[in-house]
Amino acid sequence: MTYSRHLQDQIAAEVKRFAPTQNVVIRKGRENYLCLLNYDELIRGQLGWDAEQRILLGLIARWMMTTSEGIMIGADFPLWLEERTDPRLFAALRLRNGECIYSACPHYARCFLEGAQRRSRQELKGDHCQSCLNLASSDPEAFALQPDYR
Ligand code: SF4
Repeated sequence: MTYSRHLQDQIAAEVKRFAPTQNVVIRKGRENYLCLLNYDELIRGQLGWDAEQRILLGLIARWMMTTSEGIMIGADFPLWLEERTDPRLFAALRLRNGECIYSACPHYARCFLEGAQRRSRQELKGDHCQSCLNLASSDPEAFALQPDYR
C-alpha cells in the first residue's frame, strides 16, 4: 500500500512492464473517482453553469465512455480538461466523503469506484488461492502440519 498517487502509477507501470500477464488493480482514495450520480445530478440540474462549462461537461462525458478507471486526479483524465473546468464543477463531480449511497444508487452497477473495489477483491482472492496452491504443490508437508487447511 502506498499513499502517493504518482508512486502508485509508477509501480503499476513497472509491474505491467516486467510481468505483462499480471493483473494490476490500483485502488485510490474515494475522492479521486468521478461519481456517476453526481454527474447525473449536475446534468439534470445544470446549476447555472455557463455554456463553456456545459461543453466541458460534454467532453467529460466522452472521457467517461473511454476511461477504464474513472480516476479524475492523474491517471487518464486530460490535464487540459481539468485546467479548463471550473474548480467548483470539478469538485462537484468527484465523490465526497460519506456521500455514496452504494446499492441504492441507480449507477451502482457501472460505478467506477465499486468496479475498482470488485476487481481488487477478486485479485486478492485469486492471489490467496494461487499462493495456497503453490505452497501445496511445492511443500505438501506445510499443509500436513496445519489440519485446519485440509
Ligand atoms: S455507487 Fe456511490 S460512488 Fe458510485 S456512482 Fe453511485 S453514489 Fe457515486
